[in-house]
Amino acid sequence: MSEKPFKALLLEKDNDEFKASLKTLSLDDLPEGDVLVSVAYSTLNYKDGLAVTNKGKVVRGFPMIPGIDLAGTVAESSSPDYKVGDQVVLTGWGVGEKYWGGYSQMARVNAGWLVPLPAGLTLAQSMGIGTAGFTAMLSILALEKMGLTPGDGEVVVTGASGGVGSIAVAVLANLGYTVVASTGRVESHDYLKELGAAEVVDRSPFAPSKRPLESARWAGAVDTVGGEILASLLKTMNSGASVAACGNAGGFDLPATVLPFILRGVNLLGIDSVMVPYEPRVEAWRRLAQDLPLEALDQAMHIAPLSNITSLAEDILKGQIRGRLVIDVNA
Ligand code: NDP
Repeated sequence: MSEKPFKALLLEKDNDEFKASLKTLSLDDLPEGDVLVSVAYSTLNYKDGLAVTNKGKVVRGFPMIPGIDLAGTVAESSSPDYKVGDQVVLTGWGVGEKYWGGYSQMARVNAGWLVPLPAGLTLAQSMGIGTAGFTAMLSILALEKMGLTPGDGEVVVTGASGGVGSIAVAVLANLGYTVVASTGRVESHDYLKELGAAEVVDRSPFAPSKRPLESARWAGAVDTVGGEILASLLKTMNSGASVAACGNAGGFDLPATVLPFILRGVNLLGIDSVMVPYEPRVEAWRRLAQDLPLEALDQAMHIAPLSNITSLAEDILKGQIRGRLVIDVNA
């Protein structure tokens, strides 16, 4: 492995003054770990937007290389599980928050955090999925585990034109579900229909109401928004139906009552993508490679250079990124 310097985005804090800048580092600067990865791509998730703009207390220590996802090729390994040349994917485990992450041409990580690149996907496509797509799949697996099947009725996805939402819509539609996509963006309606949504609805039907229950409509739900929208979903789930709650793009409070739970047997399923153990992690990736149509993925993903990350981070926090943004760390 050559010792040639490499480029990374470094977040630094000096007395409360925050700085995010592209730096040239050497391998000696990297933390310990048993696998050195030559990174090809990372991605921009909502959480990365918070980290890069120093909002939301995502970063636990400075200096930090952000980027909660990475995909690349093993350059050095002292782990029996990976050899030089293997293609690998990493999402979660606190990478880009507690541990140096993917906005870097090189990353040294723990072998236990990696999964092999799923068969059928390129490195760029795996990052087109990234943490957001992985979370969408975990949400769908959780609904399936509760017994949801395509014949049960409409499944709603909120924050549908975001990263998690887009992949959830595409996978559910491909599995044969009748998907209703909820979005605040009129300009996303055609895009969501192309991903497979049977119907696209505005956010407004999910506006707050004083009634503890409303007419039941949904057989299942993937909620990326939280707050009033999640509370409203709970009021409109069919008897015994489940909501997979995976996001808080609209807020982290939950102004709900217990009535949907005790009068309709509604289930609220919590989804955390960060600490998923190896076997279910590999299974979720296998299902993504199998159930997410590559045409839909290509439609949902765009590639941008790492040099643009600061303005893109602002955009994702304003809800202005559609689908998935892959970050080319070598561009
Ligand atoms: P994106 O920013 O790509 O998408 C979020 C979407 O939510 C937006 O595109 C928008 O959709 C909608 N939205 C944004 N702001 C509001 C608002 N104020 N009110 C209602 N809707 C809003 O983010 P991601 O898809 O990457 O992530 C979505 C959420 O999931 C985030 O909260 C993120 O932190 C969380 N997450 C959780 C994970 C876990 O492990 N549980 C892992 C990954 C993400 P539209 O324009 O269509 O209305």
